[in-house]
Amino acid sequence: MRTVAVLVLTCVSSTLHASGSTSQSAAKTLESAIFLAGPSIAGVPIVLAPVPPDGASRGVEAWTLPLQDNQAAQIVIYSGSGLFRCASDPDRLDYHYQCLLKLASTIIHEAWHYRHGVNEAGAYEAQIAFLTFHGAAIAQIADARLSRDRVLAAQQAIQRSRVDR
Ligand SMILES: [Zn+2]
Repeated sequence: MRTVAVLVLTCVSSTLHASGSTSQSAAKTLESAIFLAGPSIAGVPIVLAPVPPDGASRGVEAWTLPLQDNQAAQIVIYSGSGLFRCASDPDRLDYHYQCLLKLASTIIHEAWHYRHGVNEAGAYEAQIAFLTFHGAAIAQIADARLSRDRVLAAQQAIQRSRVDR
């Protein structure tokens, strides 16, 4: 069921691209997600990027750019991700809301990094609390927990390899 929905959404998004209205609709999607994320992210700079960063892992949805040279720190949302395209599709209202909610939770996650640093446990805790509070589907919350467990396990493996050296 979920696979079918994703295929349909992919087609919709290429139609949007062809019509040239992508950037305007992307800005609207981001606005909706920011509204849903709520006042806790007020003042956090968020921008859209049409391409993922160099060397990004597959499925990247958002990242936080640290303060560099003259460039202030900011959150970047990848407008080409499957999640973003799903959140941009108003024709599938039930599915659309869950995607928009996940996009908002991704902003909450990155906003945590923006304010508190690289700790993934804290960022995921904020994200999962947001999803739970806003009535996210159980599968959605389970997905976020799974991502957290994977990321934390990978971090621990890196730390162990550093200690072993
Ligand atoms: Zn993170």
